[in-house]
Amino acid sequence: MSMIEFRAVCKDYQGRRVIDTLSLTIEAKERVVLFGPSGCGKSTTLQLIAGFVTPDAGDILIDDEFVATAGKNLREPGRRGVGMVFQDLALWPHMTVAENIEFGLRAKKIAESERKRRVREMVDLVGLGDYLNAKPGELSGGQQQRVALVRTLAVAPRIVLMDEPLSTLDEALNVQLRQEILQLHGDLGFTLVYVTHSRDEATALGARILYFRHGQIDSTAS
Ligand code: ADP
Ligand code: MG
Repeated sequence: MSMIEFRAVCKDYQGRRVIDTLSLTIEAKERVVLFGPSGCGKSTTLQLIAGFVTPDAGDILIDDEFVATAGKNLREPGRRGVGMVFQDLALWPHMTVAENIEFGLRAKKIAESERKRRVREMVDLVGLGDYLNAKPGELSGGQQQRVALVRTLAVAPRIVLMDEPLSTLDEALNVQLRQEILQLHGDLGFTLVYVTHSRDEATALGARILYFRHGQIDSTAS
């Protein structure tokens, strides 16, 4: 049983093909990197997995079930078990660390005692146990990125999509956060699809690297 499957997926914008007959299979708990230059369709591929973008042709399956087909989303984003982490964090500035992490749990109507337990688990995973009541503005950039990571992970998504989440960080912090992402993946066991145009990040994070070019996987690249 595969976690994510694309069958000859195409997506056009203004008559231009940005995803071109893309087929791929990602297994449960795999750690896959989509690597390639700007504009080659990496982010669009994540949007297709998440369900924010609908394919113009082909099929997308999650857990062997059709979630999208040509021109039609069959399962809405909120019901795909997918979490996303972006480059710009979009933490709520007026909320504490705890409230930021709890936000998605509330939306899922998880009971308060379980919410508290999960918030505690998440901050402990990234060493921020002393910062539950801090506001994002009081944290360093690295700490804020850690909050953004575990905020997404708190709802226990089965698939986690990361779109260049570390590209604004300095080199030392970038290297450190890579290790923490690997650790989180090992501890929590989600399927990770990680997008980057950095070869170093791709090598560090990808158990498998898919080389993207012009909306396709370039099987000759390495
Ligand atoms: P990457 O993430 O690899 O840099 P994208 O998937 O963001 O690439 O974009 C692939 C191509 O599709 C680019 O040429 C981009 O300009 C175009 N594109 C992406 N999203 C849209 C959109 N919503 N409307 C029009 N063109 C888009
Ligand atoms: Mg992109």
